[in-house]
This record gives sequence, structure tokens and C-alpha cells, in this order.
Amino acid sequence: MTKPHVLVLGGNFAGLAAAQKIRKYATDRVTITVVDRKSYLLYIPNIGSEVLANRDPALSMQMPIIDVLHKDDIDFVQADVESLDVKSQTVTVLPGERSGSTRENLHYDYLVIALGARLAYDKIEGFAQYGHTVSDCYYGNALRKYLHEGGYRGGPVAVGSARFIQGRKGRPSWLPDAVAACEGPPVETALSLAAWMTDHNFKGASNITLFTPADMIAEDAGKNNVTALLDAASKMGFKYRNKLQDIRRLTADGIEFVNSETIEAELKIIFPNWEPHALLQGLPISDEVGFVLTDMQMRNPDFPNVFACGDCAAITVPKLGSIAHQECEIVGKQIAKELGAISAELADASWLPEVLCIGDMGHQKAFYIHANSWFGGDVEVLKMGHVPYMLKQSYKEMFFRSGGKIPAWSVPIAEWAAESIAV
Ligand SMILES: Cc1cc2nc3c(=O)[nH]c(=O)nc-3n(C[C@H](O)[C@H](O)[C@H](O)COP(=O)(O)OP(=O)(O)OC[C@H]3O[C@@H](n4cnc5c(N)ncnc54)[C@H](O)[C@@H]3O)c2cc1C
Repeated sequence: MTKPHVLVLGGNFAGLAAAQKIRKYATDRVTITVVDRKSYLLYIPNIGSEVLANRDPALSMQMPIIDVLHKDDIDFVQADVESLDVKSQTVTVLPGERSGSTRENLHYDYLVIALGARLAYDKIEGFAQYGHTVSDCYYGNALRKYLHEGGYRGGPVAVGSARFIQGRKGRPSWLPDAVAACEGPPVETALSLAAWMTDHNFKGASNITLFTPADMIAEDAGKNNVTALLDAASKMGFKYRNKLQDIRRLTADGIEFVNSETIEAELKIIFPNWEPHALLQGLPISDEVGFVLTDMQMRNPDFPNVFACGDCAAITVPKLGSIAHQECEIVGKQIAKELGAISAELADASWLPEVLCIGDMGHQKAFYIHANSWFGGDVEVLKMGHVPYMLKQSYKEMFFRSGGKIPAWSVPIAEWAAESIAV
């Protein structure tokens, strides 16, 4: 008897965690293959801190995954996923290690889609000439060189997001409309950059405008949390602009918005629309924009052997690695349940997403946010200080050392430390 084959598309936060959780819960009842075009995990959340510390993030934020997967007897295929056919249970890939490869069809019994989203900088006019960002090593290094090698002249800075286009089809009633995909990063970037600017004899917070297309920045982090955070930021001198709808274009002098407002800026740090990948658009498993539809057990309602987790899933809003992590646990348990490895009671436990986010504020401090109020819950915690900073750094260290398998006890301990120790 051959074992059922689980094919996991994507090997970053969601893909790696899903594969590991499936192995953990379904044990040796399945064979597992992960496909990604790169053979390392990019640890995105700490790229900005590396940039400000003038360290190349490519040296410190890439964790090789082939070895990590091998320890759990999980195969890895380095290839571009080109298309998928959920009716014939086939995925077409183009192996990417050398050019000239032929297309291959991979068959699956269970499919886990964890391909993330496309960060659509290319849809922002003027980004190539005038924009900066911190979402990967290429852009991180461009900003690092601009800041540390004399490019930045001390002019005004604007940090914020373009509009996020979320699908409506099949959206659960508890999930509100999000106008921006993930606004922890702009808040973190503005706060930590202000500290860097003061340390480098530039004007700090008072020279930075934090902007959002939405009514309130990072609304999904809880209104009380954000109000307190904005209060603190305004006392530090930051300027704040909201309801800007969307970016029209970047120019040498600043940012123009679709509602005709402008922000003057020499340095423009931008987070774009999180767009679904083209290969997922128009599929019977996707919503009208291309995010993969799932129920709360991360299973597609029409094709129950197809799961999605992380940024490519329609219910992952905001687009956060911490929510991806919660979803991967569910995927692992669901597949294990189906194979008789764990009970339905354990696998089907109800779940409400939680926003967990730690953002660098510079000077060895960070903010910590824990909230589920945006999804209808009543948790809203905000802390700022040295303990969250220590947790942010140690989480990354622990992640690399354990190959992404953060021990189960560490999250509650981190929550306890962040929420109880005010330093
Ligand atoms: C600057 C920044 C800071 C952030 N900070 C935080 C934070 O502090 N906390 C937090 O929880 N979240 C944070 N996030 C969000 C977090 O990075 C994402 O939610 C997370 O990366 C989603 O994981 P994922 O695996 O779903 O997608 P991704 O990380 O985007 O991974 C998708 C994977 O799929 C692969 N892939 C895509 N298309 C193909 C294809 N066609 N063929 C083969 N492979 C493909 C990619 O190579 C990649 O490895 C931050 C995001 C940014 C941009």
C-alpha cells in the first residue's frame, strides 16, 4: 500500500510549518513533498532591523530548509509552481536549479497551498525610481546602502501602505474589510527609523509621516491598542495621515494619493498591495481576486483535499506570519484526523485568529500587540519596552536553531513575559 502523498506548495513560514505539523500529527502515515522556487526560508520580519544596523539581511535572514525538511523525512523540490488542476489532483512545476528543465506533473492526495502573496510594487507608478522598502533582501540592501552610504540627505520621510484589495466571495461574517494588508511593518519601520535618524544626527520622529489608506492604521491590532500607540507616537513628534485611499504615484518630491492629497518626502518607504499569485486566479478554489477559499479548518469547501494557509488563504487577514502559524497547526491536525492519527475532538477544536506582533522601536525597545478584537473577540494588549525587543530577537534565534520548530511552551511564556514584565 502506498501512503497518501501530501504536496505542500511554498516553503516559507506557512509551507515549512504546515509540512512540519503534518509530519508531527500524521506521523509516518503520509509522504510529504515541499515545492518552492528557493531552498531557504526568508525571515522577513527582522529585515528592517538588519537594514538599520547596516547588516546585509541576506547573511542573517535566510535559513536553508532542505536539511531541516530532511530531518522529518520530507522531500524538497526546487521548482516554480506554474499551474494546478484540482480536478485531476495535479500540479505542474518547472524545476528551477538549472535552466532548460522540462515541466513535470506532480500528483497529490492532499494539497496544501502556502504560496504567500505577490507584493505588487510593480503596480505603483514611480516605485522603481523613488521607492524603498524592507520586505526582502534586495530592497533591504538598497535601503541599507541609501541610509548608510550617504544617499539620504536628511529630508522628510513618509512610511505607509498602498490599498489592499480583499476578496468578498465566501468571506466569513466575522472577517471585516481590510483596507491595508499588514500595517505592523510600516508602524515598526517608522518607529525604528526615527531612533536611527536621531542616532545619526538627523531630525527624528518629527521628520516622519506615517500614513495609511484606511480610517485607522493597523486597525486589526485593536482600536484601543492603536489609539494608545498613535498617542505615544504623536508625543514623540510623528506626523500621521489617514484615509488616503491609495497611492497614485511616487515622485522625486513625495507621494501623490488617489484622493489628490500629497505628502512631501525625500525617502518613501512603501508597503504595496498583497496581490494573489496569477496562477491561483480564476481557479474553482479561489475567490474573485485569487485568494484561496477555506473554511475555519483551512480546507476548501468544494475540494476538501485542498488546504491553504498563510498569506495566500482568503481568511488570513491581516497577512501575518503569526496567523499563518495558527493555521498550519490546524492543517496538520486535519490531515492527521483523516488518516486516523488523532481524534476529531482534538482536530476540530474551534479557533478564532489572534494578531500577535512584535515591532522594533529602536534603542533596544519594541512594541508588543496581542489582539483578537478585530475578529470579534475581547483581547487587546499593547506593551512597549525592552522585554518585547528581547523576545523579538530571541524568537528569531530560536526559530533558526530549531529549524522553525519553536517549542510549544515558548509562545505562552513569551506572552506571559511580554504582558507581565513591564521593562
Ligand atoms: C516587512 C514585513 C515585516 C513583517 N513582520 C511581521 C511580523 O513581525 N510578524 C508577523 O507575524 N508577520 C509579519 N509579516 C508578515 C509575514 O512576513 C507574512 O505573513 C508571512 O511571510 C506569510 O508566510 P507565507 O509562507 O504564507 O508566505 P511567504 O512568506 O510569502 O512565502 C511564500 C513562499 O512561496 C514561494 N512561492 C511563491 N510563488 C511560488 C511559485 N509560483 N513557485 C514556487 N514557489 C513559490 C516563495 O518563494 C515563498 O518561499 C511581515 C511582512 C513584511 C513584508
